[in-house]
Amino acid sequence: MILRDGQQYGPYNEQQLQQHIRDGVISKTDLAWTEGQFDWLPIQSVLDPIARSGNLCPQCKGPLLLQVENPQRSTGIIVIVLGILLAPFCVGIILLVWGWSLSSETRRTWHCRGCGRMFPA
Ligand SMILES: [Zn+2]
Repeated sequence: MILRDGQQYGPYNEQQLQQHIRDGVISKTDLAWTEGQFDWLPIQSVLDPIARSGNLCPQCKGPLLLQVENPQRSTGIIVIVLGILLAPFCVGIILLVWGWSLSSETRRTWHCRGCGRMFPA
């Protein structure tokens, strides 16, 4: 099923989907949902092997959990605090912007509950 501009279309099978993408009827950034998916995802990630298997591990067929990590968050906060302290100077503004981008950076990985493998999302 495809969600485009708030409207649902489909269901389509994979061949029809590929055809619609080639024809430009559907864009790869439109949202799609297939059975076993927790949520609507961009079509390009639905068409990748992990999402296509219904969020099952390609190795052991165990359930995959999406983990959103924020590895730079604490560094970002320190940089923001420094930026606030140095706000009267130009460098403070630069630190604020840099700290903000660090703290909002996220990394998404699939984590298999069966075998413990990680896959990039
Ligand atoms: Zn696994």
